[in-house]
Amino acid sequence: MFSGIIASSGVAIGKAFVLKEVDIQISDGVLDQSEVASEVARFQGARDKTVEQLEIIRDKAAAKLGEEEAEVFEGHILVATDEELEEEVLEAIKGLTPADAALNAAIKANVSMLEELDDPYLRERVADIKDVGRRMLKNLLGIPMASLEDVEEGSIIIADDLTPSDTSQIDLDKVWGFITNVGGRTSHSAIMARSLELPAIVGAKIATDRIVSGDQVVLDAVNNKVLVNPDAMALESYRKLQKDLDVERQALAKLKDLPCETADGKRFEICANIGTVKDVEGANRHGAEGVGLYRTEFLFMDRSQMPTEEEQFQAYKAVAEAMKGCPVIVRTLDIGGDKELPYLDLPQELNPFLGYRAIRMCFDKPEILNTQLRAILRASHFGKLKIMFPMVISVEEVRRLKAIVNEVKSALRSEGQPFDESVEIGIMVETPAAVMVADLLIEELDFFSIGTNDLTQYVLAVDRGNEMIAELYDHFSPSVLRAIKRVIDCSHKAGKWTGMCGEMAGDERAALLLAGLGLDEFSMSATSIPRVKKAVKRYGYDALKVMAEKAVNLPTAAEVKSLLENFAS
Ligand code: PEP
Ligand code: MG
Repeated sequence: MFSGIIASSGVAIGKAFVLKEVDIQISDGVLDQSEVASEVARFQGARDKTVEQLEIIRDKAAAKLGEEEAEVFEGHILVATDEELEEEVLEAIKGLTPADAALNAAIKANVSMLEELDDPYLRERVADIKDVGRRMLKNLLGIPMASLEDVEEGSIIIADDLTPSDTSQIDLDKVWGFITNVGGRTSHSAIMARSLELPAIVGAKIATDRIVSGDQVVLDAVNNKVLVNPDAMALESYRKLQKDLDVERQALAKLKDLPCETADGKRFEICANIGTVKDVEGANRHGAEGVGLYRTEFLFMDRSQMPTEEEQFQAYKAVAEAMKGCPVIVRTLDIGGDKELPYLDLPQELNPFLGYRAIRMCFDKPEILNTQLRAILRASHFGKLKIMFPMVISVEEVRRLKAIVNEVKSALRSEGQPFDESVEIGIMVETPAAVMVADLLIEELDFFSIGTNDLTQYVLAVDRGNEMIAELYDHFSPSVLRAIKRVIDCSHKAGKWTGMCGEMAGDERAALLLAGLGLDEFSMSATSIPRVKKAVKRYGYDALKVMAEKAVNLPTAAEVKSLLENFAS
């Protein structure tokens, strides 16, 4: 038995599917002339197998996601069957290089040649060649493919880490939960797990060492326990716990249409965080009054090139329409940190969370932001969209962003494209810099939304995804609470509003404190909505205000938590 960090609560009992990336060892010997023919055959066999696998993946993707999404794999097949690549490999084998070393060298040569070109389209092909090359090498060396394509029904995925593109491939009919070695509550695999309503534990450090594929696993993401091959008694008690959780879920579902308000009627707006239009169903089912954070980066991931303006427009319009006039805050592309876009081929950074991310990258690549803003504004005609910028640190940035929005608006106006002229503009407050100048920033804006996932990591200087220091990452730290209070107060002084879309808003204990501080809007994983409503309903607003005032003046996080515990008991 071991534990980790609960990413998404629930209990799952299933068979382990261990997703392990192995190091590929390339031969360094020299062939004997008599081995050349069999090495050529080995290469050709691996290539044919790769093409067969890619055809299956392409067909499945076409059935599940549509022809357009499947085109990526068409490109992969072209790479695998490239005649020049084959010639290079055969040439090297004839020069007595073993097939795997020959293929590896040919792939590397192609990659470095493309990387040097100035053509962005060809540079985008680098990721494809690396990906297909790895697949061919594995086939050549008989290394089994670790792929989420192969999971069977009732699987619990065990992995070192899951990338956003891995999680987007999860088939909910087959996968019942996941456990990763790395990550924290706010890493993207955790956020995805909550939006998929899939039980998950992250940051378990030793999951891939302790579990082998086929083990029976109990994933208890309620009490933070992982049991491997448990006895019959333990299994029985977990089956009972699953039933109890179902009963609780049904009771909470009854709160769906009630507002989020205190016992004496002080009302708060309660919204959901979403990543794609598919999440709107869950948002509505759990009683969200809007979307407080639409993380648009998921539209940019798991593909081989940028989505076009039209594709983005269709996606944003679909969300606007599905939310039926309820507000939707669309966050512009927040890439960097732990979210990569392979096709942008960005250089590795020493400090990615402090680096070239979000609006910083968008200022450097203006066509990305321009296209996205055109798409969001065009979609604003079909619902109630608001625009939100991530990672802001200064008034200069806000002015520059607003100038870009105005330019895009003028262009749309002159083209006769309809859009919402009065679309609200806000920012995520997620850097200490933004907190310090919140009074100045709000003068330029319509609203704030506090991103506590990043704000906590930057205020405390604690990496949000590093399980070794996970205990230090605490949104109840007095420094974080003071930052939050300052932001809310600054916005109110200016007659504006503040929401919160970091995970703290969905923590039912924290929600009481935040309500007491006067937070106007709470946005969270949809599944947390009923619990927060239930928590807030129990108290009068004055009592919450008094408690919150006390809490922000306490010297330690432990005292804040014990105050909240006593208050709620
Ligand atoms: C945050 O930082 O609190 C936030 C909501 O954004 P993300 O988790 O996408 O960085
Ligand atoms: Mg953030």
